[in-house]
Formats: sequence, structure tokens, C-alpha cells
Amino acid sequence: MDTNAYMPRGAWVVGALGFMLLTAAVLWQHQPREPIASKALLESLLANGKPHPVDTEAGEAHAKRVAEALTAAGVPAEFQKTVIAGAGGAPIKLNNVLGRLKGKNLGPATLVTAHHDSVAAGAGAGDDGSGVVTVIEIARTLAKQETERDVIFLLTDGEEAGLYGAIAFAGEHPWFDDVGAVVNLDARGARGPCHVYEIGFGQRELVSLMQSALPRPVTSSIADEVYSKLMRNGSDFTVYRRLGLPGFNLAFIGGVEHYHQASDVPGNLHAGTLWHMQESAFALVKALDRAPPLPNGKPPEFEAWRSRMSIGDPTAMRELRSAAIGAEAEPTPQSFASFGQRWIVAFDAGLAPWLAGAIAALLGTALTIAWWRGMLACGAWTGAIVRVLILLCAVGGAAAAGAFGLSTYGRLVGHGWHHGVWPVPAWPWFGALWALALIVGAAMWQLIPRRNAWANASAAATVLLVVLGATSVLIPSTAALLLPVLAVTAVAFLLASVLPRSIARFGAAFAACIQLWALTAALMPLEPSLIDAFGFGAGVLPVIARPLLFALAFCVLVSGARSMWGEQISTTPSPRSEWVP
Ligand SMILES: [Zn+2]
Repeated sequence: MDTNAYMPRGAWVVGALGFMLLTAAVLWQHQPREPIASKALLESLLANGKPHPVDTEAGEAHAKRVAEALTAAGVPAEFQKTVIAGAGGAPIKLNNVLGRLKGKNLGPATLVTAHHDSVAAGAGAGDDGSGVVTVIEIARTLAKQETERDVIFLLTDGEEAGLYGAIAFAGEHPWFDDVGAVVNLDARGARGPCHVYEIGFGQRELVSLMQSALPRPVTSSIADEVYSKLMRNGSDFTVYRRLGLPGFNLAFIGGVEHYHQASDVPGNLHAGTLWHMQESAFALVKALDRAPPLPNGKPPEFEAWRSRMSIGDPTAMRELRSAAIGAEAEPTPQSFASFGQRWIVAFDAGLAPWLAGAIAALLGTALTIAWWRGMLACGAWTGAIVRVLILLCAVGGAAAAGAFGLSTYGRLVGHGWHHGVWPVPAWPWFGALWALALIVGAAMWQLIPRRNAWANASAAATVLLVVLGATSVLIPSTAALLLPVLAVTAVAFLLASVLPRSIARFGAAFAACIQLWALTAALMPLEPSLIDAFGFGAGVLPVIARPLLFALAFCVLVSGARSMWGEQISTTPSPRSEWVP
């Protein structure tokens, strides 16, 4: 029999192109575009283009310019000038800049903060000039409005050297006692959306604030997991979080090749990124101001730590930095993820196994109905699962080998990872990986039989359920992102399972398409974030995660397409089908 009579040779090309178009649409939507006026303020603050690290003449001059800008925005600025013991015990001179707006009512104040120092390598337009101008623009807007409670604006010094400004503010400044919640702004790059990538104490309240306040949310509990647990990074927010304060930490991470480099200049900073940071930060500050005071998890050691700080005990600072004092255990850790810069799905992380179980039961019901109606045979189903697993290993292996080879090449030609592994922009290499995965996927096409539409489509769903379901149970911070994909898939198969038998093949293909769409929409925005977070090809996680994403998508695509272009389900009616009209 001629295979091509049933399966157009170009079918997989059409499917793959559709898949790439869909992905491109998701990525395009992920990119903020609107321009912003406050870039001019950033350009004037960084007019001399010089780096301005802590405890230097340039640093002091920059602190003065920042204070003048804050005052000009309508909030009279003052300095917190202090000396703090650095990591090696050497004294470090700090110039924190701060101002305060009086609210209508008494009650905890909202702290809006960023750091004004840069690293020695560059002027720090993104890190953290973007945060500085955002704080000043919020001050300018709020100075003309009434706020419910006080708002404190703080531009810290010495963040890059060791979070010194934030530690000095928390340890020594009298205003810190009034702070009820924090919005911190920082950056690890020069473009891309502004993520709310870390939240403080009282996650349930904070996530529901984000849900109601953020106009274009880009957030996920996975970011927090990666940033604070896997990468063990810190920012000023780390200090406030360890002291048990509620709040939000915002940053953009695209264009990591400019991070801590001489190229971190205003010209390389994406205006849409700055705009998204400002929009998000302003929305959160307003929401915190209007919300009833939030609970905090101030540790019992706090007062003792603070009195040691105020007499300049250097070990007190080291203790805070190494988290010897920390927030009470988070009472309600949340699993949350934003979708399409529009919705935030969130639930208590402890619910993840139950939700995964319910979704598995739903898919199980769909498959049982299909089996009962004679559309799905056990042998065909297990055979298809084996084939999908082989496909997964082949495509994933090829893409992993490609990614690993390219990243090794990048290291061999002598680029450090976060200095940009690639002698050329990463996207062509990214495209090459896709092509490689496509070719292997296409070569494996013949592996999937044309008949057994239901077996093909549901085998991919079953594998997806096991891989993503297990991930969400083992790492609950991923559950809010992964479980909706599985839930949508299970519902699609349940609908397909009750369609008339004559169109069962199309029902299965439809469910596979829905599955592919959900997988792409949810996981593809994660892909560039992986590159941004680690640098392309750096570290084990993106090298494994990227090919896995490819492979999962291809399995769903190929098995879905195979069921669409396949033969009729079965010519011999199953004896069971006589039981069901
Ligand atoms: Zn920074």
C-alpha cells in the first residue's frame, strides 16, 4: 500500500510551520512595545556615561544628582549618610537617598526602592538606573495625588557591593519601623518584560493583590524558585524578605549580555521595558496603599539584630546576609503563573498533588470512555506510548546534543556565559536547534502508524500527563504553570470521547491540537526566560529544559498530525460498541 495516498508528505512541514507561527505569536505578545518619556530623565542622570560604584567620588556625585531629581519630582530628598563594615571588615561609606510623602491616614507605609550605585564596569542604565527613574516617576505622580498612607522613596547605595544600603536602612534608619510593605526594582539586562519574580511574606494576600492590580502581569513562582533557591542570587529585596516584610521584587532579565557590562547604557535599554516596569510598579504601589495593612513575619531575633546593627557590629550584617536571621516560615506558599500577560493562575502550593490527581482522573475517564466505545484499543495505546517515548528520546536527544555542542563551542571560543556565550546573536543558533529537532522529528514520522488515531493522540497526552504532572507534584512552584496545560488537555479528550464514532478520528486530532496549543502558550514564553536567566547554553537546566520542550511539543505535534491524516479508526466494530448507542 502507498503510504503517501493517505499521508501527504508535506503534512508535518505544514504542522511544524503552524506550530512555529503560534510560538512566534506568543513571543511577540510577550514583548512590551510602548515608548516612555522618563527615558530622558535616565539619560540626563547618566549624562557623563561613567560608572558610579559605592564609596567613590563618582558615586557620591551620582547620589547628589539622584537626590536633586527626587526633590524636583516633588518629594524633598534627604540623605542617610553612614559607614558600614564591608565583607572584609573594611569601612564603606554609604549615601542612601530618601524622601517621604505623607498619607491621609496613619498606618504602615509603603517603601518604593531601587539602588542608585552601579558596578565598576558600566554606568548601569538597566541595573539599576531603570529602577531609580521608576521610583522618581512614581514619586512625581504620587506627589500630585493623595495617598492613603505614607509612601517612602529610597534609592540605596552599595547594593552591588553587598546589599549594604538596604541593610543600613533596615538596621539604622528610624523610618524602617514604619514600613509595612516593599516594592523593589532591579534589573539583570536591558529588555524584555518586567517580571514580578519574587514576593515577600504572606504570599496568598500578595498574589491576590497582583491578580487585581497588575495590568499586564508577567510573574511565576518558578522564577522565585530559580532565582533565590537555584541561583542563590540576592538584591535589596532579599534583606526585606528575610526580615519578614511583605512585598514585590520586580526586574527585567532580557538582554543579559549587557548585565554588569560597559554596554549597560541608556541606548541599549528598551523603552517598552522601562514602560512596563513603571506601569507594573505603580499599579502595585497603589494597590498596597489601598489594601488593609498586610501581616508580616518579623523574626523574633529582629530587635536584637537591629541593636547590634546600630552599634556597628559587623557580624550582625553578615548574619543577615547569610540568612542567619530570616522570616518565619511562609504560612501559605503559593504556586502561581501568569498567562498571556493577562491572567494569573494561583493556588496554595500544597494543593498541587490533589489537582494533579483530579486531572489524571479526568483524562483516565476520557480514555476509558473511548475504550468502552471501541475507539481505543489497549494494545494500540501501549504501542503508541512506546513510540512516543522513542520519539521523545530521539528529538530530545538530538536537540540536547545540539544545545550542548553549541554551548561547548561557545565556551571553547572563550566567552564567559553571562558576557554572551555567542559570537553572534543567539537567535540563529536557537533556530538551528529547532531545525535539528524538526529534521529528527520528521525522520521519525514513519514510526507513528496511520491507523489508531485515538491511540496516537492520547499516547502523547498520557506521556505529557506523567512528565508534567510529576514535575508539578515534585516542584509545586511549577504547578500553576503546568497543571492548566494538563487540565485543558484532559477536558479536550473528554469532549472528544463522547463524539459520534464516525468523527472520532477528528475528535482525537482536535484534542491533540488543543493540547499542543496549551503546551505552546504556557511553556514557550518560558523558553526565552531560560536564556535570559542563565545566558544561552549556560548551566545544566536550560540545556536539558530546552530540548525537553522541543521534544514534548514535537511528540504532541507528530502524533496529533498522524491521527488527523491517518486512516479511519477501525473497520471492525468492537463488541463493546454494541452496548453503547
Ligand atoms: Zn542591581
